[in-house]
Parts: sequence; C-alpha cells; structure tokens
Amino acid sequence: TVRVRIAPSPTGNLHIGTARTALFNWLYARRHKGEFILRIEDTDRERSKDEYTQNILDGLAWLKIDYDLGPFFQTKRLEQYIAAVHILLDQDLAYRCYCTEAELEQMREEQKAKKQAPRYDNRHRNLTKQQRQAFEAEGRKPVIRFKIEEPLEVSWFDMVRGEVTWNTRDLGGDMVIARVDEQGNIALPLYNFAVVIDDIDMEITHVIRGEDHIANTAKQILIYEALGAIPPEFGHTPLILNTQGAKISKRDGATSVAEFQAMGYVPEAFNNYMVLLGWSPPDGNEIFKLEEVAQVFDFNRVNKAGAKFDWDKLNWLNSQYLHSMPTDDLCDRLMPFWQKAGFNCDLDRAWLLEVVKLIAPSLTLLADAVEMARYLFVDTPTYTDEAIAVLSPEAVKPILSGLLEALHQTPELTAESAGALIQTVTKAQGIKKGMVMKPLRAALTGDIHGPDLVPSFLLLHQRNLALPRLQYSLG
Ligand code: GLU
Repeated sequence: TVRVRIAPSPTGNLHIGTARTALFNWLYARRHKGEFILRIEDTDRERSKDEYTQNILDGLAWLKIDYDLGPFFQTKRLEQYIAAVHILLDQDLAYRCYCTEAELEQMREEQKAKKQAPRYDNRHRNLTKQQRQAFEAEGRKPVIRFKIEEPLEVSWFDMVRGEVTWNTRDLGGDMVIARVDEQGNIALPLYNFAVVIDDIDMEITHVIRGEDHIANTAKQILIYEALGAIPPEFGHTPLILNTQGAKISKRDGATSVAEFQAMGYVPEAFNNYMVLLGWSPPDGNEIFKLEEVAQVFDFNRVNKAGAKFDWDKLNWLNSQYLHSMPTDDLCDRLMPFWQKAGFNCDLDRAWLLEVVKLIAPSLTLLADAVEMARYLFVDTPTYTDEAIAVLSPEAVKPILSGLLEALHQTPELTAESAGALIQTVTKAQGIKKGMVMKPLRAALTGDIHGPDLVPSFLLLHQRNLALPRLQYSLG
C-alpha cells in the first residue's frame, strides 16, 4: 500500500510550497487508498520553534489536509538515528572527521582560487588510530561523515521527471550525517541522514517533495544502499515561481499559508489553486473539489517546469467560491473579519445574513467585506469628500427633507415601500430618480458608490440608522 509523508521543518511558518507538496502527497494517498504521514523535522534545534510547529499544524487543519498518522517528531527519535550512525561507522561506511571550521574555510578558499566548486576533499577518510587520538587529545570535536564513492552514477526513475541521473562527483565530497555533543557522543543527526532513517522506519513508499531536493535524493539513495534498504519511489514537484520566473518569496506578496488566510482566501479556493500550481486537470475544468481530484490525480499530469504564481487566477477562483457559497456559510466565514474590525456581530442573524447577501456578489476576498459593509455596522459613517460634495448644495436640502418626511410616513419599510417612497419624492420634486438616489446614497452610506441602495436603506432602517443619517445630512 501507498504510504507518503510530508516532513516540514518548523523553522518558519507553513509555506505555500510545503502546503502544495502536502496536497500532492495527500491526493496521491487518497487516490491509492494509502496513508499520509506528517513528520516534523525538528532536529535543527536552534532554528526550530514550537510556534512554527503550531503554525504548520494550524495551516494544515485550515486547509483540511488531514493526515492518517503523526505528527511524529524527529527529536523524539534520536536513538534510532544514533544507532544507524553506529552501524555505518562499524562497517567503515562512515568515519569521524576532525577538520576545524578554519581548515574547512581554508579548503574552500583554495578551491575558490582554483575556480573549483566547493567540496570536502575527504582528507580525514583514512586517519590512523594515532592521528585520531592526537586530534581527540587536542580537544577537537569530530563530525561523522558518510563515504561517497566517486565517480559513480546514481539514478532513479522520477515520478515527475522520468529518468534522473546524478554523478557522485557533484555531491560535494563525503557528507556530514551527524555531529557530536559536548561530551563527544554522537547526538545530532543531520537532515539527509535522519530523513532516510525515518522514511525506512515509517515504510514510506513514495517520497514526493520539491525539486530543490533533487541533489539530496542522490545522497539519500546512497544511504539507503549503505543500510541495505530499498529506496522508495521519488517524485520532485516543480517550484513555485513569481511572475519574473524566480522562486517565489516574501516580496511577491505572501508566502505563508497564514497570510493567505488572513487576506481572506477560503481554503477550498486556495487548495483548488494550489492543485493547479503544477498539475493540470484532464478535462480542463479548473474548478473542482479535492475529493474529485483525488479520483484522478497522478504524476503524469504534473509539469516539470516551474509553476508560475498567478494572483489574478487565485483571486478569480476565490471569488468564484465566495459567489457560490451558501449565505449562512459565507456569513460564518466573514464573522471573524468583522469581529476583528470591531464590528458588532451580535446583531440579529437574519440582519447579518441580509448584509452578506447584499455584498456577496462583489467579494473577491473575505477581507473585502470589512470596508464594503462598514457603513452598515458603524453608528455614523465617515463621509467621503465626494459624498459631502453631493450633500452640500442648497438644492439638495428639499430632497433630503422630502425623504425624511416620506420615511416618517412609511409605517413599514420594505423593498416595495422604499421604492414607492423614492418615487413619491421624485414626483413631488419634479426631478429625475437619479437626483434623489444620489443624495440618498450619500446621506445613508457616506459614499457615492457601494452596494445596492434599497437593500442598504432597509438594513440601516432596521437598525434605526436611516432617519438619523438623513437628519444629520440635512445639517
Ligand atoms: N525537512 C525537509 C524540508 O522541509 C523535508 C524534505 C523532504 O520531504 O524530505 O524541506
């Protein structure tokens, strides 16, 4: 059975790249009725933070990307890694390297001067016992390096990229797999090593991750082989690029899932968009539920080329989801945004639902609902300069007082009676309807554009705000 995983490092918030990788893994697991594991790779103690772990868990929960097993934490599995390091040491497949930082630095400088790529020159591969003891006596702390034979071709059939071959000459020399602690005990495994031990122990069948890990895959395959294990299948997904074709970064607007959430994207739309970042639907239909994609998802339809991030497309998708969502559901999702803006959300639910209906067709982001509906929630709106300009002329006063008068005489304000009311004033003043609507909008909403006026009028009147606003505008 298929078993896949994501293995984020909690050194930052859940990144869109990781979320997209999670989604592809999740889809693959669902497609094959397999299992999806979450593993937190927290061995880098200095950079790992609990708040990032929490952010990753929250982000996945928000996206409803559920995992079948985990979360597992690497820091809870140190014994397994250390045991595996000892196996490699005992078999002479790994060794202790005593180079100091200064020596390594000098090595790199010399390589640079000769215009060579930086690499470790394997100088401590064959130390004698005496040499080792001398270094130890100096108080040097070793690192454990894994021997990489050169030249050697490492190949695998990549689920996305087909045949991939990597020459071990390009792997930078014998690689560090673990460091020692203060007492000199092997204690701190590194990513490329720990990941293999985990993927073996957790019986991972397919490793699906970003293209930036291709060179790591070559290294990891060597470790599988050294441990006598069969490597899983690998699939390297394209990177997410900005419009200039560079790897997407903070400067492109947003990269963490939490930011997209705060901007008011809904998870359904965001997931839908992420699937399209790299995968193309067989029927060309670009709006779909994850459950539907899970029926057909495969790596033949994942592009090799980088996936360009397209804000317009994401926004379009989000608006599609918002426009077709049941009012009740949309209301629940808007509430946190309104609450955060300080709006009173304890108002009658029926009233809130009417507000949602009124603004829904104009929403692209949930957050748009704050400014769009502000005039309905606040006691007094802020009047824009344009609105003031509409309300200032003397000729507007009789229109406003006509409206006030008519409103007083309307026993119950409904869409119909509001229409009739406007009609009455229009007739009485002998002017065009627009000449009444404009000041009415300005007086009620404080602006000259906005959602439909009659429903706004009703909503404000229900909160007893229509009369005072007309009164106020009359001066
Ligand atoms: N911790 C690694 C990362 O976040 C995991 C990569 C992998 O899936 O092996 O990039």
